[in-house]
Amino acid sequence: MSSDTVLVDANEMIAARARRALIVAEPIVILGAGISGLAASLASGAPVYEAEHHVGGVAASDSRNGFTFDRGIHILQTNHPKVQKLLDDSGVRLNERSRQAYIYSHGTYTAYPFQVNTAGLPLALRVRCVWTFLTRRDDADPANYEEWMNAKLGRGFADTFLVPYSEKFWTVHPREMTHEWTGNRVPQPTTWQVLRGALWSRQTRIGSNADFRYPSNAPGYGAIAEALSTRVSAIHRGHRAQRLDVERHTLHFDNGTSVAYKRLISTIPLPELVRLCPDAPEDVRHAASLLRTNSILVVNLGIGRPGRNGWHWVHFPEKDLSFFRISFPHNLGDNVTPPGMSSISVEVAYSVEQPVDRETIVQRVIDDLIKVGLLDRSDEVVFTSTRDIRYAYCIHDFARKDAVRLVRSWMLQHDVVPTGRYGFWNYFWSHEALMSGLQAGEKAAKELRGEAIPDESWADSA
Ligand SMILES: Cc1cc2nc3c(=O)[nH]c(=O)nc-3n(C[C@H](O)[C@H](O)[C@H](O)COP(=O)(O)OP(=O)(O)OC[C@H]3O[C@@H](n4cnc5c(N)ncnc54)[C@H](O)[C@@H]3O)c2cc1C
Repeated sequence: MSSDTVLVDANEMIAARARRALIVAEPIVILGAGISGLAASLASGAPVYEAEHHVGGVAASDSRNGFTFDRGIHILQTNHPKVQKLLDDSGVRLNERSRQAYIYSHGTYTAYPFQVNTAGLPLALRVRCVWTFLTRRDDADPANYEEWMNAKLGRGFADTFLVPYSEKFWTVHPREMTHEWTGNRVPQPTTWQVLRGALWSRQTRIGSNADFRYPSNAPGYGAIAEALSTRVSAIHRGHRAQRLDVERHTLHFDNGTSVAYKRLISTIPLPELVRLCPDAPEDVRHAASLLRTNSILVVNLGIGRPGRNGWHWVHFPEKDLSFFRISFPHNLGDNVTPPGMSSISVEVAYSVEQPVDRETIVQRVIDDLIKVGLLDRSDEVVFTSTRDIRYAYCIHDFARKDAVRLVRSWMLQHDVVPTGRYGFWNYFWSHEALMSGLQAGEKAAKELRGEAIPDESWADSA
């Protein structure tokens, strides 16, 4: 061994000792500064560690050249008093909107939800939708999401809209999915609403987003996370967790720093959390590998003219179009485009089985928007950007429930509390992610103070 090697070893030992000596210790540590992590911090006073240099996670907004885009359409769909109080206390101002949403099917735009607004569709299709709705066999216990659609809405609506849309959006066939997540997410109409919608489309206002809200005092939905973050005690940005030592209760980051904790509240996706843990046993690793998600590539376009209508969003079930949903940011919020301009945010779902061609997608999106009449050939596209959402919607397939339970229970045994949309691996809206974060923060703080813990938990919805 050369004297140089001895010197290097000695220096490394000193540096390692110095690093160990620098490990900060906190009672509670929160991983991830999305909506749920920020809420957990507000409830517990604990510091947040975040990989990115901005807050908000999937509910953040990106602003450039006068255009602000969300990461796929985001609207607030709750008036829950606890959420409202948190937003009020944080100074978030919201405007009220009455939904103007559409579905493009068979060459025409019909109002959302499809089930109660078929009047514009070809007559034969309308008759089939209504007839199969009236004669459906409302099975109390459908085996999968496709059977659920047939039982609740009938084959006509399923075949025309729900099945093709689901295949495009989830990137898996609905027969591979459970229906446990549907709740108020798929509007279920009355017979009268279906009949009326087939005779004259009236924008029947059913579903949890018939009225919704959107931030008004700063551009973009990301204003919510930004406002919450101003009240958080400490946010350590640019700290990407690289390794989690569950035995020593220590989290190590890619910038060489570490933090020790008594409770770790993690809001990062469960598969990523397991990957951080070299000590995770094989069954936990296997369970994490079963968790499936779709991914979404958001293509943002700035258009050099004002918007032409007041539409908020449109769904596209048909296979020949590249996107499943588009939205019009200038109709949702204020100051999201330069004066006299408008914008379109386009969502393209993809997965390993259904990849997206990144070289051609922007041009394909523009061509498809021209095809469906939302852009003219003469329109000037003055701005384009893309945003990749690797973990978008967690897929509720038949492996999910047991896999989530196994991973979560191993984490909880080691004082790691997964929360938020991707910690429960659930179809959480942002307000549900926020509530889950609040509860995780309150619970951890009470536990460490030795107080009784309320028996309400978002874990029930996992
Ligand atoms: C396309 C789309 C549209 C949506 N539309 C709506 C809507 O209209 N209305 C609505 O209410 N909800 C909507 N949602 C849901 C809403 O966005 C989520 O429920 C919510 O934002 C989830 O917040 P979270 O904090 O749980 O997770 P995230 O936002 O994912 O936060 C996790 C954070 O952890 C960080 N992180 C990840 N890995 C690491 C690491 N190794 N180290 C450190 N930090 C890390 C991430 O950067 C991120 O900031 C939508 C979601 C998507 C994907």
